[in-house]
Formats: sequence, C-alpha cells, structure tokens
Amino acid sequence: MRLWIKDPIAVLAEGAERGIVVEDGRIVELVGRGRTISQKADHVFDAARHVVIPGLINTHHHFFQTLTRAHPAAINKELFPWLQSLYPVWALGVTPEAFRLATCLALTELLMSGCTCASDHHYLYPAGLDQAMDIQAEEAERLGMRMTLTRGSMNLSQKDGGLPPDSVVQDEDTILADCERVLTRYHDTREGAMVQVALAPCAPFTVTKRLMVDSVALAKRFGCRLHTHLGETRDENEYCLAHFGCRPVDYLEECGWLSDRVWLAHGIHFTDDEVRRLGHHHVGVCHCPTSNMTLASGQCRTKELEAAGSPIGLGVDGSASNDNSNLMESLRHALMLNRLTYNAAAITHLDAYRWASEGSARCLGRDDIGKIAVGKQADLAFFTLDELRFSGAHDPLAALILCGAHAADRVMIKGEWRVEHGQPVGIDLAKLRHEHGAAARACLETLT
Ligand SMILES: [Zn+2]
Repeated sequence: MRLWIKDPIAVLAEGAERGIVVEDGRIVELVGRGRTISQKADHVFDAARHVVIPGLINTHHHFFQTLTRAHPAAINKELFPWLQSLYPVWALGVTPEAFRLATCLALTELLMSGCTCASDHHYLYPAGLDQAMDIQAEEAERLGMRMTLTRGSMNLSQKDGGLPPDSVVQDEDTILADCERVLTRYHDTREGAMVQVALAPCAPFTVTKRLMVDSVALAKRFGCRLHTHLGETRDENEYCLAHFGCRPVDYLEECGWLSDRVWLAHGIHFTDDEVRRLGHHHVGVCHCPTSNMTLASGQCRTKELEAAGSPIGLGVDGSASNDNSNLMESLRHALMLNRLTYNAAAITHLDAYRWASEGSARCLGRDDIGKIAVGKQADLAFFTLDELRFSGAHDPLAALILCGAHAADRVMIKGEWRVEHGQPVGIDLAKLRHEHGAAARACLETLT
C-alpha cells in the first residue's frame, strides 16, 4: 500500500515541502515544492493541519520507576540518597504485574509524546521478576513500538561495598545466563527490526568489574550495544576514586568499554581530556536534561562531546527523577538547559531535534531510523498547532519546541498508525490509569 502524506504545514527534512510517500513500512519518496508524486498512491493523507518530524527516540529510561513518582521519601534529594530511599520500596513493590503496567504506561506516555522507539534500562531484579525482558517485549509489541530491550544488571550490593540492598541484585552467572537467553530470543539485527537487545550493567557503584568485562565479551559475540550510567554525579567520581583508585572514564577504559559499541547515560562530569577520549572512541552519550535538573546533577557538555566525535542522544530518564515520560518536553528542556550552559545562539531547536532523532539512533547503533529520508523506516510524529499555546507562532518547527508541544496528534511506526487523534490505538487510557495507579499505591503500602 502506497500512502502520500500530503502538503503538511512543515516537515523536518529537505525537499519534502509537498509531503512524504510511504510504502511497506519505509519512506520511498520525498515530494518537493512544486512537484507531485512519481507514482499513483493508493491513499492520500491530508496533512494540512500537521507539522511532521521524525519519530523521536528515547535512549534512557527506567519504566518501573513510574510506580514511585513524586515519592515522599525521595523528592528533594540528590542521586545517592535518592536511590537509597527508593531501593527498599522497589525491592518489595515491583511485582511482575506492577512491572507490566509500569512498562505499558511508560511506553504509552512516550508514544503519545511522539516517540516511536524506546530503550529501557531495566536493572532491578527482585525475586519473581526474572521475565522482565519478556514482559517488556510483549508490551512493546502490543503498542507497535520499536524497542531496545536494555538488559540491565546489579551484582554489587551493600555487603560487598555497593549501594543497593541484597534483595535487588543477582549473581553474575544468573545475569550472564539471562543476558544470553534474551539476546538469543529477541536481538534482531535486520534492517527495520522492531526489537533489539543491549546489555547494561547499571553503574560503577552497583556492579563488579568482572561483570563489566564479561558483558563486553557477550556483546561482541552477539553484535549488540552496551549501556551504563556514567559521569552523572560528583559522588560517583569520589566512589570510583575510593574503590578503584581512578576516575569513572579511566575505569571504563580498564573494563574495555571505550568503544563505539557503548552509549552512556548522563555523561556530565568529564574533564577536557575525558571528553576528547570519549569522542575519539565514538562513545555515545544520552543527555537527560530533565533528570539532571531535577536531581541537580549538573550540565552535560553536549557541544564539546559532539565536536569530539560522540553521538548525543536524548532520554527522559526514569520516572522517579523526571517524573514524566514526555520526550517532546525533554527537547524543550534540552534547549533551555543547553542555552544556560552555552548561549542562545549556540543552541537551536534543530540541535534538540537532532539529538532526539539522528543522535539517539546512533546511540542505539541504528541507521534505519531517526531521519525523514528515502529508504529510512516510516517512523513519523505529527503535531498540530491548534492549541492556544501556538497561536501567533511563525516558524512551525521552532514553535513545537519553544511553545511547548507535548502531545502528538498522530504517530506512525513502520508505516502503521499507532496514535490517531491524540489517542494510542488499542489502549484504554482510563483503565490503564486506574490499574497503574492501584499498583503504585500497593507499591507504597509495602513499607507501611
Ligand atoms: Zn538512569
């Protein structure tokens, strides 16, 4: 079926003023100004009310944390005390059913904000949650979203000098066996893949060096990506100096992680030399502006990292440090925070779009998504300018970010409509809100 998305208000692509032609899940033609389609279309979608951008790609999240948003024990704290307040709640409260609802809720929120591909860094494995990756694969399939299942891990608990309690970690053999199982079952390396897998030891202060090293070997064997938290706080620098005798980037190098197979979450507290080394090895960085402001973690040196050779992607981060999953909002926050870091002329709306599309795709190791171009997957987000907040706006693409667009009117993934008239296809929002809210209350009650 050949579909012409005709005459949008604006498109984030060169030479597509009269629209985009989609067939078999891919973009097959861009229709420039004054032109018409080269072959007859089976259907025409009138996009006269829409601004069309590439489907946004989220490269860092923790879906289970939607159960503990604005949690009274954690709000108004920085990362380490924030984590220590929440670990006991998560250990008891994140049951398989609660986790399924959290996954569905986070994916739906992302989708409604224009996200077409998500990765979730899931590192929490209390007893009973062994099937976490399977649950996420099922929920992503139900919504028709692309997903990089990011099999996280923690094996360094308080008794061994780590931060988390014993009840949420696994031993290395269990972790590596499940990583291999998940890779074998779900990692699709073909063009247009709906599900891929990445391996993601949680952070230097929650895993052993051996697990870091062994994860690299497994990733090389299966041709998958590697992900971890790094450079988020000064506390982390101090932890690494005390426990490993070096800074986090040196530790990364010792573990064999300075590689273009790797993308890091946050990437804030780097020296000039560390920025140069990360860029030299094309290590990707997922910038999480909202989380960094919420936890007062600091400001990512996006421009220097990008200039040095690192892809920069965008992430909403976990819902207990954001506390929402609206990726379009994160583009606005990225613009604002980076202007504060640099200046108003150095950062434009195009930087924010690039990070959330092409940059994020590169972080996930994909060149088939993240751009509106012939041959790319038909992953598109459509926004209207109908709300009061857009009235009087002139540049439509700038307006989406500057005026605060937060909900896509339509979203297409692999050529299929997944959001229509602002509503996710096949999801009962009221039921989801009710069930997830009940699961979150039950999660809180575990401690009382
Ligand atoms: Zn995180």
